[in-house]
Amino acid sequence: MTDPKKYGFTTTILHSDRQKPIEHGALHKPIHTSVAFGYRDARELAAVFQGKQPGYRYGRQGNPTVSALEDKLTKMEDGLGTLCFSTGMAAIAAVMQGLLRAGDHVVSSAFLFGNTNSLWQTVAGQGVDVSFVDATDVNAVEAALTPATRVVFVETIANPRTQIADLKRIGELCARHGLLYIVDNTMTSPYLFRPKSVGAGLVVNALTKSIGGHGNALGGSLTDTGLFDWGAYPNIFDNYKRAAINQWGLAQLRAKALRDFGGSLGPEAAHHLAVGAETMALRLERECSNALAVARMLEADERVAAVHYPGLPSHPQHALATDLFRAYGSLFSFELRADVDCFDYLNRLKLAIPASNLGDTRTLVIPVAHTIFYEMGAQRRASMGIAESLIRVSIGIEDTADLVEDFRQALAPR
Ligand SMILES: *Cc1c(COP(=O)(O)O)cnc(C)c1O
Repeated sequence: MTDPKKYGFTTTILHSDRQKPIEHGALHKPIHTSVAFGYRDARELAAVFQGKQPGYRYGRQGNPTVSALEDKLTKMEDGLGTLCFSTGMAAIAAVMQGLLRAGDHVVSSAFLFGNTNSLWQTVAGQGVDVSFVDATDVNAVEAALTPATRVVFVETIANPRTQIADLKRIGELCARHGLLYIVDNTMTSPYLFRPKSVGAGLVVNALTKSIGGHGNALGGSLTDTGLFDWGAYPNIFDNYKRAAINQWGLAQLRAKALRDFGGSLGPEAAHHLAVGAETMALRLERECSNALAVARMLEADERVAAVHYPGLPSHPQHALATDLFRAYGSLFSFELRADVDCFDYLNRLKLAIPASNLGDTRTLVIPVAHTIFYEMGAQRRASMGIAESLIRVSIGIEDTADLVEDFRQALAPR
């Protein structure tokens, strides 16, 4: 009854748990806290371990509550299958742990979430070469390719400066070269954008953000869109080549990344994230219109030096965002004029909370250079377009007029 081709986004997500039999008719998938799964017949246990029969082995590799969330995410992204992890970073790390070997090369957008940037630096010290490029320009991506390139990694709208990767052209480039194209969809979410539509092979979502949406649970996911030809990928171990070719990637990621490294999502967190996901579309509609209203007000004020939001016609990739995304997202960043101190400004806000998260129902603000991008130093910040006074705003679902007034009144008296 919930064919994603037939029903809308929210209808599909709300009713997805009822596609498989649910204990006692519970409307929510129950929270299964059992680590082990017992079988009456020992041969059945062996068949499950050998992959000859579906079933659960041990909580680190799979859990029924987590599987229900994985099915929801697969529907959201119109994919082939999904693996959940304990955090968004664990999902991104799984790419490195499960799919890359020493000597491989990765081309990554230079405009990245700070911790992903830090992760790629770690990987670079472990024998995988990473090139950081301006992903708003497909030519920069193409120029960085080498015969050892395995993966091209980009974010949709970069956190926090909102540069938008040239998603479609990079997808075409990856298809021409047979490269695995990985898109971190966290900033857009599958409601605003499906990376499958531009040729992504794997989609990353930090479930912590818009999908869970309430800042009460961490989680991450990798969705295989079914577009990538794993048969041509050189790093698949023979053990994972027993299933159909389109399952090779997920099979290896489940074993080599989830099972061996153990960044598994807990069932309680999976439940919180699944409940949050039911209202994602409603929350995002409000958040995107709130973000546009506040960004417009700030841009019109002379005490503000710059506003970075793809919904503003002044944004360099505004036309691209309009073409690709349903709306422009819940996050923007802005720079105050030099004579307005960014800490004083933040302290004058009455509603927006200084805190490091995004996609929450509450509006959160953070001085980027002094917190989440502090460790990397001024030089690297400058290369990523991060001004020292940059404030990142994650807009919540508060009433629009209240937010516009809060951000306006905090601008110092004229
Ligand atoms: C937050 C975030 C992550 C990491 O997610 P966590 O759940 O915090 O580990 C990855 N990518 C982007 C774009 C993010 O905003």
